[in-house]
Amino acid sequence: MEKNNGYFGEFGGAFVPEALKKVLAEVEENFYQYIDDPEFLRELQYYQKQYIGRENPLYYAESLTQQIGGGKIYLKREDLNHTGAHKINNAVGQVLLAKKMNKKRIIAETGAGQHGVATATVCALMGMDCIIYMGEIDTKRQELNVFRMEMLGAKVVPVTSGTATLKDAVDAALEDFVMNAENTFYLLGSAVGPHPYPTMVREFQSIIGIEARRQILEAEGRLPDYLIASVGGGSNAIGLFHPFVNDKEVKIIGVEPAGRGLDTSEHAASISKGTVGIIHGFKCYTLQDEKGEPLPVHSIAAGLDYPGVGPEHSYYKKIGRGEYVAITDDEAMNAFFQLSKTEGIIPAIESAHAIAYAAKLAKTLPKDKIIIVNLSGRGDKDVKQVKEMIEGKYRSL
Ligand SMILES: *Cc1c(COP(=O)(O)O)cnc(C)c1O
Repeated sequence: MEKNNGYFGEFGGAFVPEALKKVLAEVEENFYQYIDDPEFLRELQYYQKQYIGRENPLYYAESLTQQIGGGKIYLKREDLNHTGAHKINNAVGQVLLAKKMNKKRIIAETGAGQHGVATATVCALMGMDCIIYMGEIDTKRQELNVFRMEMLGAKVVPVTSGTATLKDAVDAALEDFVMNAENTFYLLGSAVGPHPYPTMVREFQSIIGIEARRQILEAEGRLPDYLIASVGGGSNAIGLFHPFVNDKEVKIIGVEPAGRGLDTSEHAASISKGTVGIIHGFKCYTLQDEKGEPLPVHSIAAGLDYPGVGPEHSYYKKIGRGEYVAITDDEAMNAFFQLSKTEGIIPAIESAHAIAYAAKLAKTLPKDKIIIVNLSGRGDKDVKQVKEMIEGKYRSL
């Protein structure tokens, strides 16, 4: 694959201390070497098929389409992957790379715990030591995921510095990475962070779009009119979008979390409401205060709760290749129930944001238009939260 310098227009880069630059350069060199290595790719394909369960279906949601009455809605079923979401695609890719690099110790950050669980899973598979940094507040909010990671053999380290949430967990992981680079690989969870991570994560997630492209050509004999995906850091979205980027007739729509509304301060819509700045070592649209510090963010979907966004999405927005819209907590929850009841598919609340926008859009389209929605994950993990919301114990609706 062709090397890039880590910039997508003005976005991306690696704004990190010298010591970390050296470590990142080693990751970069190995990534570009192995991503073109037939044996590495054979191994990757083996685990994609035999472990993750790929390829997963591109399912025509006929009942949902009929209920809405408009464009045809197809769902890319990442929810059917092992561990229930797209995150495993990236975790498997990076752990195989770490193995090639002879690293025996894997570290990762996690917010809600989903990336931590995916990382602990692949570490169990490959017999790697696994250390997961997690803000102390998040460890309490996401007790079950902490327990899950521990069952898989990982060590969860609660981070008490700063706000004791995701951003502090990232700092702790980066610090560990610099200190222990010799035997350690940092397995980053989304298409964010300093170069080469956004490019690397995109490559490992692009299997989503590669499959979807082949599948829609088989089902419809043509490319879709729209691609829609939820955007937290942006990995499931870039994975679906990237293989279609040169197909100018295919419209790309990323759906950000509008939380309690874009006119409140309680959302995480980095592209819709952010400004250009640097967060976690890369340049992007970010929600920041006057000092450039990340602002507190909110989304009903823990996986979308991030004050930055991948540099490639920032670039698509800037040059007009992608459109970025936002869906509120309430709209996402309506879509969550609608998909559950019409198709018998309980989506992750993150994915429900994409479904909600697809439903809005489909209604305005003629019946021959085609939409592919990335169903990034399943909703099993959200059942308890939804139950508590309905019972009124949890202030979110
Ligand atoms: C983590 C997560 C997301 C958001 O992360 P991206 O990197 O933006 O894809 C979306 N959906 C699900 C199911 C997730 O677990």
